[in-house]
Amino acid sequence: MVQGVGFRPFVKREADRLDITGTVQNKGSYVEIIAHGSEEKIHEFYDVINNRPPERAVILRSEIKEEPEGDRQSLHNFGIIESAHREGEKFIPPDIGICDKCREELYDPKNRRFLHPFINCTQCGPRFTILTKLPYDRERTSMEGFPMCRECENEYYDRESRRFDAQPVCCNNCGPEVYVYGSSLKGLAAISETRKVIKSGGIAAIKGIGGFHLCCDAGNEEAVKKLRERKRRPGKPFALMLKDIETVRRECVVDDIGEKLLKGYQRPIVLLKRRKGGCAAQSVAPGNPDLGVMMPYAPVHLLLFDLEDGIKDFPDALVMTSGNVSGAPITISDEEADRELGAFTDIILSNNREILTRADDSVLDIFEGKARMIRRSRGYAPLPVIISPDDENAGGTPVVLAVGGELKNTFCIKTGNDLYPSAYVGDLTDIRSGKALINGILRMEELLETEEEIIVSDMHPGYNSRRIALNRSKQKDIRLIELQHHYAHILSVMAENDEPGPVIGAAFDGTGYGTDGSIWGGEILKADRKGFERLSHISPFRQPGGDASAEEGWRIALSLIHEMCPEREKEIIIKTALCPEEEADIIIRALDKGDNYIMSTSCGRLFDAVSAVLGFCRSSGFEGEAAMYLQFAAERYEERAGKDECGEPLSVEVMSTNDLFLYILAHCLMGEDRDRLALVFHRGLSGFAISEISACSEKTGIKTAALSGGCFQNRLLLRLVKEGLENKGLKVLINRQLPANDSGIAAGQCYYEPDY
Ligand code: ZN
Ligand code: ZN
Ligand code: FE
Repeated sequence: MVQGVGFRPFVKREADRLDITGTVQNKGSYVEIIAHGSEEKIHEFYDVINNRPPERAVILRSEIKEEPEGDRQSLHNFGIIESAHREGEKFIPPDIGICDKCREELYDPKNRRFLHPFINCTQCGPRFTILTKLPYDRERTSMEGFPMCRECENEYYDRESRRFDAQPVCCNNCGPEVYVYGSSLKGLAAISETRKVIKSGGIAAIKGIGGFHLCCDAGNEEAVKKLRERKRRPGKPFALMLKDIETVRRECVVDDIGEKLLKGYQRPIVLLKRRKGGCAAQSVAPGNPDLGVMMPYAPVHLLLFDLEDGIKDFPDALVMTSGNVSGAPITISDEEADRELGAFTDIILSNNREILTRADDSVLDIFEGKARMIRRSRGYAPLPVIISPDDENAGGTPVVLAVGGELKNTFCIKTGNDLYPSAYVGDLTDIRSGKALINGILRMEELLETEEEIIVSDMHPGYNSRRIALNRSKQKDIRLIELQHHYAHILSVMAENDEPGPVIGAAFDGTGYGTDGSIWGGEILKADRKGFERLSHISPFRQPGGDASAEEGWRIALSLIHEMCPEREKEIIIKTALCPEEEADIIIRALDKGDNYIMSTSCGRLFDAVSAVLGFCRSSGFEGEAAMYLQFAAERYEERAGKDECGEPLSVEVMSTNDLFLYILAHCLMGEDRDRLALVFHRGLSGFAISEISACSEKTGIKTAALSGGCFQNRLLLRLVKEGLENKGLKVLINRQLPANDSGIAAGQCYYEPDY
């Protein structure tokens, strides 16, 4: 990502410094640099470009090649070649958070953009979300309907200006306007009114870059609770927007890496450890040691925090959660916001710059000192994942559309060697998300000027994503490929690591449809781009109620107890307060009759079951909730006891996952520390994974392991398994650019290589 960030002048400066002659040229989706010089200097040059590029440049992939002898021309200096043509340009710029210079101008009373809620420049502002078509020019954005005033036009055409060719340029005299929806309040008065509502404990919907946020005072317990009640979201953590880095330091433990990520131009939500004594209400993230925080990234956010309008002590921490009804896509238009959010907001602060592509905030976690994606959306989408060209298919590969999974849906388009993952769509169990998926595909294909030739979907017969893919393939009369869910997870790790395989993949996940019709999710697969073989899995168990019971860990626990120690089950149910006896009787009777269950090897469900017997969470209010509490408990214990002092059975032999469940249950009944048992479970499960994966590695001779699936969002599990495998000499690939959860599987589906 090198457009408009001063990349080419930087390359020239470095070349001149190192006495390198040659050229740099923008080739659309990539940059080509020809460099002549001593070998040593060339290596230094390559190193500087890769490791110290200009701040906003992103290098996804670089390659160095010897120039064929015959092509060499003698060059006397280093030149920048102007792009000859912009056709076929496949680079879609992502949205960029407000830059320091614009921020200074925003607060400068002498500047003509003083307090302008849409201030931007070539270095910052919306891109992807306002774009209809490439190339990226004003008439192909939602700024099209706003003619520039004379002064803006001068800047737009002035090469020396910071706003030269800045498509969304506008000012207080031209361009879009903020307003309170359904009232005559506009501009700063509208912002001030919104501040008043928030300050007094109300709930506001605020239009940002990729959609509406729901916003309230994060320090006001009542307000946060009210938002939870109205949004019918009892436990799932809310993201916070904090005024500045000092506020972040007050609320969270943040190191240099976290700070860098928070201040980065993508302005993602970063998961950080919550600090004791912070001001945020407990109900912002109940029972959670972490907070998801971000910094203001649109000028309107900054004005919201510190407009000087006489309102005293405006909060410096705001809840900023996606403006949607649970599961539905984030709302982007006034009509949607009014219809879906109107009933539970006290004010809607909107503007008339249309959002064309929705993009939720991206969410990052920090693992081993580096970022990894939990949700890849605004700021990152749709930057491509670039894979190596494949010699066998040098003649060109078909354009692939992959529609992803069902929950946390994203889609992905592959053209040539580029995989373009979409912004976050939502849960397709909601019909509105299905529509958003279809519209998102249309928009992206228009942007990429392409149309798919093959569609890939999950093989789950009940998935709406599959239904959409099936309809589309019939309509277009093109091939539909149905891929197994966990294989797609493993392909996602392979894709982003540019590793065609074969690998030993471990997909530890929630629900996924297996090739045998049962539920999979604790799978060890041998995989390459052409297919997979299921080598091992966690112990199967009966999942009462099938997929429908996915949220209710206690049912799985009950089934395991019934299976493994039927003669004592009554006593155990009472002792663990797992569920009322009558409920247990009904389920057990059905199990005995062989009714109403499905076989499952889902690791996510095993987590749920353990969380239920240990009394952390009997059933999840949102995906992964029970497993999260189990992880937090284990981390709590680890911190308390020190990493190495967790005692027995951490040194006992590896056991099957069903035996592990029994072991945990038995020790729980003996009254052992539940936090410790949570850690024992993590260690036991990791031990199982490590031993199975390394056995498969020995059997097949494959030395590379790939870990994916929603359970590996659990950083403790990921750390334990990764370390264990590395100690056994395996190379371990994990997800970083793409989420390990179901948001990542679309890119994995695209990486599959069918026989054409
Ligand atoms: Zn700027
Ligand atoms: Zn203007
Ligand atoms: Fe999954």
